[in-house]
Amino acid sequence: MKLIAGVDIGNSTTEVCIAQMDSEGRMRFLSSSSRATTGTKGTIANTAGIINGLEVAMERIGKNVKELSLICINEAAPVIGDTAMETITETIITESSMIGHNPSTPAGAGQATGTILYMQHLEDGKTGIPYIVVASSKYSYESIAETINSYAKKLSIVGMILQADEAVLVENRLEQKIPIVDEVKYVEKIPEGIQAAIEVALVGQSIRMLSNPYGIATLLKLDANETKKVTPIAKSLIGKQSAVVIKTPFEHVKENKLPAGEIYFLGDSKTSVNVDAGADKIMEVLSQTGKINDISGQSGTNVGNMLRNIKKGMGELTKEEASEIKITDILAVDTLAPVQIFGALAGETCMEKAVGVAAMVKTKQLPMEKIAEELKKRLHIYVKVAGVEAVMASLGALTTPGTKLPLAILDLGGGSTDAAIINENGSVVTTHKAGAGELVSMLIQTELSLSTRHIAEEIKKYPLAKVESLYHMRLENGAIHFFEEPIEPKYFGNVVLLHPDKMIILEDDIPMEKIVAVRREVKKKVFVRNAMRALIEVAPEHNLRNIENVVLVGGSAQDFEVPEMLMEEFANYKIVCGRGNIRAIEGPRNAVATGLVMSYIGERHD
Ligand code: ADP
Ligand code: MG
Repeated sequence: MKLIAGVDIGNSTTEVCIAQMDSEGRMRFLSSSSRATTGTKGTIANTAGIINGLEVAMERIGKNVKELSLICINEAAPVIGDTAMETITETIITESSMIGHNPSTPAGAGQATGTILYMQHLEDGKTGIPYIVVASSKYSYESIAETINSYAKKLSIVGMILQADEAVLVENRLEQKIPIVDEVKYVEKIPEGIQAAIEVALVGQSIRMLSNPYGIATLLKLDANETKKVTPIAKSLIGKQSAVVIKTPFEHVKENKLPAGEIYFLGDSKTSVNVDAGADKIMEVLSQTGKINDISGQSGTNVGNMLRNIKKGMGELTKEEASEIKITDILAVDTLAPVQIFGALAGETCMEKAVGVAAMVKTKQLPMEKIAEELKKRLHIYVKVAGVEAVMASLGALTTPGTKLPLAILDLGGGSTDAAIINENGSVVTTHKAGAGELVSMLIQTELSLSTRHIAEEIKKYPLAKVESLYHMRLENGAIHFFEEPIEPKYFGNVVLLHPDKMIILEDDIPMEKIVAVRREVKKKVFVRNAMRALIEVAPEHNLRNIENVVLVGGSAQDFEVPEMLMEEFANYKIVCGRGNIRAIEGPRNAVATGLVMSYIGERHD
């Protein structure tokens, strides 16, 4: 009796399965495991993850790795997926200062325009000029109120900016009520003597004037040209409870314009498209270009820099010259990304139209033989590089109950969405399309301005709920779930992720409905489009109606909503589509590893 291992090294995950073969050649699968791939796919660094995966799988059946007779690893396609994001519409960054924030307790309501004057300089104030007085936290609220009350008799004081969180305390003591913005950390950065506008919203509302370019224009008396330049500032102040906008002298305004740029497709024909045309147009031009040899961008533009960086990054990883690296496919997605506003005194950002891009990079043949040799050396076990990834995935997928030939598979991975069709006579057509799970996580992170990719990954994977009392929560689909025991108070009022083992509190303060909408939209934009592109390419006569069955495999096929989205889409073509269940137990995972073992045993008997 021999023990055989199949090992699939993916961009993200290394999967292992173990089968035993008796003397008559009958095979039985015993165990499997899955580990994060160590290093870039196709490099010697992968061996650590492979050995670890083998150890775990063998341990599960109470055996040692040394008892293996053979390890089969995949012949990886020489393509690697990478994702990048740029705000590649034209960005205009204007050097104008502003503060917009949600202090917990601003005071007064309304707006005011005036000249900035520090409190310690009030004696230099002139009558007839409206002033906005700035007070640092050196002064107590009592002394601030007292000073303002006494000067208010001589000077026109129309508003205040405080460093401390004391707006209400000051306002209560003022004889004439004025809007006060507090908790402004860097008051010393506010230049004296220039015009500023402040606004405090009524309780439960948000500001109206300073979040509107024409509102700023009205308060600060801007002309049409200046108004255009404050638009990003207005956008970034939407939804705030209070704000300050300072008019900087426009001779000093620096503008930094980086055009979005053209994308050049080099293929059966040569085409180009401007990024401003949007993702749909980019993808349309790409599909008209036919087979692609390389994709590049206009130099000195946002998209040019982005595509150059992808090639450079990949070149460093695979130790090839950037000029040798070819991009063979991209997926462009319209999105929104936060852009830092120059001149913001508290790191404010505004959401700008952006394009996210995933690219498929063609490298030299990946040196799987080298990995095989390294494994042999370290484990003293025979290692065979066997079979093309997509073919193996098809073989593995066929172990899903209810499938038959011809069969189409969609491998929804981390970096790429791959498709293959396997016929009755065993011939296989395959393709690799840029963009999959990693792009989805990246887009979720930027559109929701999340602090880490990890949170974005978790939002991608688990449904949401809002804990409305200690006894119940509202699920994202509207249903109410009651707890048998009251839950810990820390969950109260929070949006949580329903991880199977625990509830994860989302620290970022974003409404549940918005997260759900962004999450679903992003998944559709990436997976529905890519599934279509990939299947059309492998379908007989490039017609989806010639496909009957599609089995979904790979890490992203575990997604709780992507398979349903695809099922719905393919129902229009009368295609049976569903999540695979490899060997009736693995779900959509382990297809390639399983296929590797099957193909080895099949070969022996042919
Ligand atoms: P590869 O074959 O390229 O190594 P995988 O098939 O392992 O890739 O897929 C990795 C992707 O699957 C990652 O983007 C990961 O976020 C995603 N993924 C893993 N588990 C889940 C899940 N439960 N729901 C949604 N996506 C998942
Ligand atoms: Mg894979």
